[in-house]
Amino acid sequence: HRSIAVFTSGGDSCGMNSAVRAVARMGIYVGCKVYLIKEGYQGMVDGGENFIEAEWKTVSGIMQKGGTVIGSARCKDFRTREGRLKAALNLIERKITNLVVIGGDGSLTGANLFRQEWTSLLDELISVGKITKETAELCSHLNIVGMVGSIDNDFCGTDMTIGADSALHRIIEAIDNIATTASSHQRCFVMEVMGRHCGYLALVAALASEADWVFIPEWPPETGWRDVLCNKLQKERSMGQRLNIIIVAEGAVDMEGNKITCDMVKDLIITELKYDTRVTILGHVQRGGSPSAFDRVLGCRMGAEAVLALMDATPDTPACVVSLDGNQTVRVPLLECVERTKRVQATMDKQDFTDAVKLRGRS
Ligand code: ATP
Repeated sequence: HRSIAVFTSGGDSCGMNSAVRAVARMGIYVGCKVYLIKEGYQGMVDGGENFIEAEWKTVSGIMQKGGTVIGSARCKDFRTREGRLKAALNLIERKITNLVVIGGDGSLTGANLFRQEWTSLLDELISVGKITKETAELCSHLNIVGMVGSIDNDFCGTDMTIGADSALHRIIEAIDNIATTASSHQRCFVMEVMGRHCGYLALVAALASEADWVFIPEWPPETGWRDVLCNKLQKERSMGQRLNIIIVAEGAVDMEGNKITCDMVKDLIITELKYDTRVTILGHVQRGGSPSAFDRVLGCRMGAEAVLALMDATPDTPACVVSLDGNQTVRVPLLECVERTKRVQATMDKQDFTDAVKLRGRS
């Protein structure tokens, strides 16, 4: 009888519930015992009531909800060997040797480390008398499958992360709302959107909202951009446009690596053009609300595939991430994707944008 545990970790995103539901139901369908672990790695370390055995109906009615109903947490304990030892014991006590982690690159890195350490964790638990050799043999391999839940769409190896599409819906709704008031008062709005190192949300939101200008980390504006921007806005106004929308990704920088802030852009426009200009930082509304149809279906497909990947795993199968390639659900090596994602962040920090975009590939 195989046991699977699923948990969500790192920042929440829409569609995580759908993925949890699919893991639980597909797991039960293929004959496994499925546990939901509450509060991410913290719940795994703390054990007890954080482990809930899922029945078919346990996960009904959660797909429509944003965030993650089983909770997520940042967990310092899991970064220590002692914490991981406790987590291992909690899994072994329930004969769980299959883990599905839904989170960002940090959560997937932690999972991979856990898997690499598994044998030595078992040895230590035997040596301190917490488990027997027989139990250790029954639980000798830990299979791990990851799914990327993130609004940023910043993970190498998948075309879409779970939650990015819903965040885009929130951003577009907000821009549309602002556009009506901007137009009434002939205002210019400078809006910051999330995305960390990745300009995906800002770029797609700008395209879909008829924005006049977008600043993204991957493409710092040429020196002299201030004049180009002001000339463009002026030209548009002269053609009868009553409003201006400028989108600034939270990670946007100029050629020298200096952060481009909404206030900077606002001050420029007020000084040069005297337009009535306001700043709106969208903030956490971007994470909330109900998941889009796309994210619900994405979570379903990924969750089902994750269970199938676990069932196919042998002791030699490396940990994988279930991801989207075009319209196909695929399995990609976890370690390689995490390393590539980290390299992108490092190259972006060094202002090497061409390399970062190449590394990120299709996503
Ligand atoms: P997001 O992209 O939303 O930030 P994330 O998964 O990258 O999500 P992190 O805070 O980096 O978020 O990681 C979540 C948790 O995963 C951490 O709180 C920690 O418990 C665990 N974790 C991350 N990195 C490691 C690591 N190197 N070793 C062990 N555990 C880790």
